[in-house]
Amino acid sequence: MPYADLRICLLKGATVKDYSKALCDISCRIWDYAELKFNEKNSAEELAGLLEQEGFEVTRGIAGMETAFTAKWGTGKPVIGFLGEYDALSGLSQEAGVTEKKVRPGTGNGHGCGHNLLGSAAAGAALMLRDYLKESGRPGTVMFFGCPGEEGGSGKTYMARDGVFDGLDCALTWHPGGGNAVITGAFMANCQVYYRFRGRSAHAAAAPHLGRSALDAVELMDVGVNYMREHMEPTDRIHYAILDTGGTSPNVVQNHAEVLYLIRSTDTEKVKALYERVCNIARGAALMTETKVEILFDKAVSSTLSNAVLEDVLYQSMKKVPLPEYTAEELDFAKAIKDSYKDIDPAGDLSISFLPNRERRRCAALYRESPMMDFVIEHHHLDVFVPGSSDVGDASRVVPTAQFVAATFTPGTPGHSWQMVAQGKSSIAMKGMLYAAKVLAEAGKQLIEDPELLKKAKEEFIETTEGKPYLCPIPKHIKPHRDVEELKKFSEQEGAK
Ligand SMILES: [Zn+2]
Repeated sequence: MPYADLRICLLKGATVKDYSKALCDISCRIWDYAELKFNEKNSAEELAGLLEQEGFEVTRGIAGMETAFTAKWGTGKPVIGFLGEYDALSGLSQEAGVTEKKVRPGTGNGHGCGHNLLGSAAAGAALMLRDYLKESGRPGTVMFFGCPGEEGGSGKTYMARDGVFDGLDCALTWHPGGGNAVITGAFMANCQVYYRFRGRSAHAAAAPHLGRSALDAVELMDVGVNYMREHMEPTDRIHYAILDTGGTSPNVVQNHAEVLYLIRSTDTEKVKALYERVCNIARGAALMTETKVEILFDKAVSSTLSNAVLEDVLYQSMKKVPLPEYTAEELDFAKAIKDSYKDIDPAGDLSISFLPNRERRRCAALYRESPMMDFVIEHHHLDVFVPGSSDVGDASRVVPTAQFVAATFTPGTPGHSWQMVAQGKSSIAMKGMLYAAKVLAEAGKQLIEDPELLKKAKEEFIETTEGKPYLCPIPKHIKPHRDVEELKKFSEQEGAK
């Protein structure tokens, strides 16, 4: 599917440079690399290299992460930041451009969240806003933040902890999705924790009295947490995955077992309180089974703080920038993809979840009928709870932040699915990515031209944070890590102190 005819030219009067081919090529290459959290060496370098080549001052390896970087152009105020991600997910190997599940040879990973598009569009916005500043001669600084490890790594949380976002006047970002809408409300705070039980193995028939089962401990812990659910707030969420059952032989008393918990609530303080309760249940399970439990705090994010002023700036930009148009061939592809998840209601798409009921019902019908969404959802700023989490939350607690979703996939495409990977390199995805780049750049332009907007956004930020400083939800001794073995090192060092 060709995309060479897509052009970026929104900034009237600016020396228009067409970055569309470079951005599409980079998005496709990042899709190909499909690198996991904190291993995104090639992906980060694609974006850092492009910006450096274009005259941005690039600083690599920030906040203790090899694949995190900043790129800066310009001087003075305002300082506008764009946040970009580029990590993939494991277990999602999938061919591009096909309408059935088909493993891509040579990799187990895939871009199941569209982050191959996310980083490119944000970098494109930085380039276009730079062109605007150059052309207009206005003062201002454009910054791009290469944010690794969004999927289970909390990259931005470490960046916020290290003061990387300090000094920004605002941060803007987006996420690939099934429709075009400004995101409002608050995504949840969370923390993720490993509970590793150790018991004593024994022959399950000959000497069961000598064994102490770690697997029993995991089961009792899960039962305990499930009983606790009645006594949680309706907006709390707890999920778990048993990572180690101790073995595959039922005739052995399992001496090791492990369960990973993800604990969510509406703010970090509530997550902390829930975490303590879950830890007590784990200790109780260990006591009951005469096993030992090791608790390893993995990662955490803060809830997002929305900003009505910036949301409106994004909304105006979304309406101003022309939406992509689709060819018959693209719509046929979209229809076939949509047919592959017939049992999922497209009306569950995040982009319409913020709407009042009546408007939501009207949009839901369109989402069910049409293969692609080619309109912008009416925006209403709301203080609603959004059942999900993002490390954008930590950026939003340091600097006024807003984000939107743009249609790069068919409506209702399930998150982290093969369908999302399959669509990630399509011309539909590229059109959505370029639209997002333009919207971000246009929003940046509005903020530079009307300093009142940033002043109001800042006032709103101070009011909602009550002037309190940012507190990182990740304990100090925990550093960015790729897996539990790396994490263990930090915990052991802390224990040795
Ligand atoms: Zn994502």
